[in-house]
Amino acid sequence: MTTDIQQAEFAVEVRGVHKSFGALDVLQGVDLLVRKGEVTVILGPSGSGKSTLLRTLNHLEKVDRGTIRIDGDLIGYRRKGNKLHELRERDILRQRSRIGFVFQNFNLFPHLTVLENVVEAPVSAQGRDRAEVEAEAIALLERVGVGDKAHEYPRQLSGGQQQRVAIARALALRPAVILFDEPTSALDPELVGEVLAVIKQLARDGATLVIVTHEVGFAREVADTAVFMDGGVVVEQGPPAQVIDDPQHDRTKAFLSRVL
Ligand code: ADP
Ligand code: MG
Repeated sequence: MTTDIQQAEFAVEVRGVHKSFGALDVLQGVDLLVRKGEVTVILGPSGSGKSTLLRTLNHLEKVDRGTIRIDGDLIGYRRKGNKLHELRERDILRQRSRIGFVFQNFNLFPHLTVLENVVEAPVSAQGRDRAEVEAEAIALLERVGVGDKAHEYPRQLSGGQQQRVAIARALALRPAVILFDEPTSALDPELVGEVLAVIKQLARDGATLVIVTHEVGFAREVADTAVFMDGGVVVEQGPPAQVIDDPQHDRTKAFLSRVL
């Protein structure tokens, strides 16, 4: 899948992406560049297209226009001469398996144990050796602080523990980037901190992360780049000291005054 790239400079490269649902233009020309090892936090009001953007990154939504590259790999298409051909489902699944996705509602498989949840995709989508993946999964569960839960089922865990399992599951893919869609929004307030702490540690360890969140304090702390979206476009982006503490656009100022 790395035929038409040299060394990808960007983990995520979004250019001119448009996406509509019927008459609703949800993404109206989004550009976004994320360098390897950097953390990008996306802020913006509800309905501004943040989740849709994340979903286009791993082809859960197909774009109408524009291109997306993850680690240089053109998502959803392969180039043949000057023409783009849509990938088959099997190749899309393979591409998607290099992108971690952590959802608001954890989305663990309820009928699988914690360990099985983490082991499933590397074995089935990446064809890796089960014993090797299991050893790695146990280490990852320990890293996010739920090593003692490996043989329990998701419903036996708190929301914060389930979300940490979801993060271990994403890491097990050895992904080029991990996408987080409001990872703490479904949690009781007292459980938010433990999940943010794990994400902060990943950031310190040099993972490439794209995080949609309303936790502005966390964004300021962890982000290399803050992106403010509204109405399906990127209104403003830059270091958090700029976008969060000294916003230039009225829409950014209005949003921040509501959430800060
Ligand atoms: P955000 O995550 O910023 O709150 P979303 O990307 O979820 O925004 O949604 C942006 C807009 O697109 C909303 O108006 C939402 O109702 C609409 N939308 C999202 N997904 C779909 C879909 N599958 N079908 C129709 N409309 C959708
Ligand atoms: Mg959303």
